[in-house]
Amino acid sequence: MIPTLREAPADAEIISHKLLLRAGLIRKLAGGVYTFLPLGLRALRKVEQIIREEMNRAGAIEVLMPALQPPEIWQQSGRYETASNVLFKLKDSGSREWVLSPTAEEVITTLAANEINSYRQLPKNFYQVSVKFRDEIRPRFGLMRAREFIMKDAYSFDATDEAAQMSYQKMYDVYGKIFTRCGLKAFAVEADTGIMGGKFSCEFMIPAESGEDEIVFCEACGYAANIEKAMSGIPKTAAREIGGAIEKFATPGVVTIEALSKAPYSAPANRQIKTLVYMADSKLVIVLIRGDDQLNEKKFAGKIGTTVFRAATAEEIFQALGAHPGSLGAVTSTRKKTDISVFADERLRGANDMRTGANEDGFHLRNVSVERDIQVSQWADLRTVTVGEPCVKCGKSLKLRRGIEVGHVYKLGTKFSDALGANYLDEAGARKPAIMGCYGIGVTRTLQAVIEQGNDKDGIIWPLSVAPYTVCITPLGVAPESEVMKLAEKIYAELTARGVDVILDDRDERPGVKFKDSELVGFPIRIGVGEKSLAKGEVEIKPRNGVLQSIKIESAVETVMKFF
Ligand code: ATP
Ligand code: MG
Repeated sequence: MIPTLREAPADAEIISHKLLLRAGLIRKLAGGVYTFLPLGLRALRKVEQIIREEMNRAGAIEVLMPALQPPEIWQQSGRYETASNVLFKLKDSGSREWVLSPTAEEVITTLAANEINSYRQLPKNFYQVSVKFRDEIRPRFGLMRAREFIMKDAYSFDATDEAAQMSYQKMYDVYGKIFTRCGLKAFAVEADTGIMGGKFSCEFMIPAESGEDEIVFCEACGYAANIEKAMSGIPKTAAREIGGAIEKFATPGVVTIEALSKAPYSAPANRQIKTLVYMADSKLVIVLIRGDDQLNEKKFAGKIGTTVFRAATAEEIFQALGAHPGSLGAVTSTRKKTDISVFADERLRGANDMRTGANEDGFHLRNVSVERDIQVSQWADLRTVTVGEPCVKCGKSLKLRRGIEVGHVYKLGTKFSDALGANYLDEAGARKPAIMGCYGIGVTRTLQAVIEQGNDKDGIIWPLSVAPYTVCITPLGVAPESEVMKLAEKIYAELTARGVDVILDDRDERPGVKFKDSELVGFPIRIGVGEKSLAKGEVEIKPRNGVLQSIKIESAVETVMKFF
């Protein structure tokens, strides 16, 4: 059951997705939902095994939690709301609601609440390798962003901040080992904490053009952060001498930053305020960004504490501010409603001589001094960093590259232990919440990342550690009892006895077809056995990524063993 394909289905966009399908590793059942075929499953099991070995070695304890979970614990943690955009919900025949696990903080913390009572039981780190479900808006790229996927998730519980830091560091180090063993070049970047909330997190990235993440990095000092979180040392808006009173001026038909920057208005974008209006928790929120900057929605989500928000409709905006998009502003005296929260980007702090909408269609204001004229509820870093800006740490020029997020380590603090009562008694008998960390690896995504990083025009190039089989024996004739088949079977038995994963291609196919398939699937070593070479007392050994060598039959097994 290795159904290789000449062409990938049209909906496969990136190379690793195409190769997963073409090499017969997976098949799609529905968008973001896949079946693993035997070879795909073998490679997946190898990734899982590497993860288990390293997690066990680090002292983590394997458990298995249910994917089907009661919504109550999600309500208790608050994530029933804040993570509702990824949470799959279903009803049983008695109309009782359930959720399908996108991660398992709620379950493990409930377990810890019941099982851990004393500081003597700490530290603990529990992990599982299990199926997760996420209602992704855009499942795509095969296993990279699926609705159902396999994740390794681990959760640490500690008594003190120092101990929690050690647990975190241990996982950080283990992740490096895991990805290296999978043959991947991973690097860590500072990241947004997303639906976990929590205090601090790092993502492990595999550099790839097809990656969905953008990483801001500095070659000079090593600073690296996901663009969702990255900051730069870009200066605030320069204060100007002129600080006269606000003036309203007519701007018929002008509804963009660009239009206002042109004659006759000639207001450069960096002297304009962009006013955005969102609806979060059925409340309007105004967000202010400098005209030449872009709002970073992840940073904004972090500030309002939920990922569930949307752009307000023109009608909602009109009712609250009295104007339509293009003429909006936050200047307090021009707003119909003044009880709307205003989030402003740090870059606008102290800015004066600014232009913004007058909350009257066809009019703008000039001479706006942000701190004088706008009641800001919260200042925050809300803008997206762009390439070439000075590094926040050392001032050198920042660069941008794309990557695939394969793992994520978080310092959670006591958010979940407080919400779900995971307390322990300390040495003095005082009740305290356990300090938590959580650590995820996208197992199926990691498998695909291995393929994304290792391939050529002929197919997959597996590292030995993850290849579904490391050796493929290709007899050119398959007649039972023929000399060729006998030799192939003998080598198969000898290598198997030495613990090598060998597959014997005994299909009655033309040699060309067999060789092509073996390159496509990417077995690291191929051993060709044919009548011609047999007559010379030789077999052919072809490393997937190297040159073909003719080797005496007697030394064939030894030669192969040297590759490990
Ligand atoms: P992303 O930003 O890619 O959506 P995330 O931050 O939501 O990821 P986590 O909640 O930290 O991801 O999950 C831990 C790991 O699970 C991720 O590092 C990633 O490798 C994997 N993962 C997350 N979502 C998916 C998905 N939809 N399909 C496959 N793997 C996923
Ligand atoms: Mg996600």
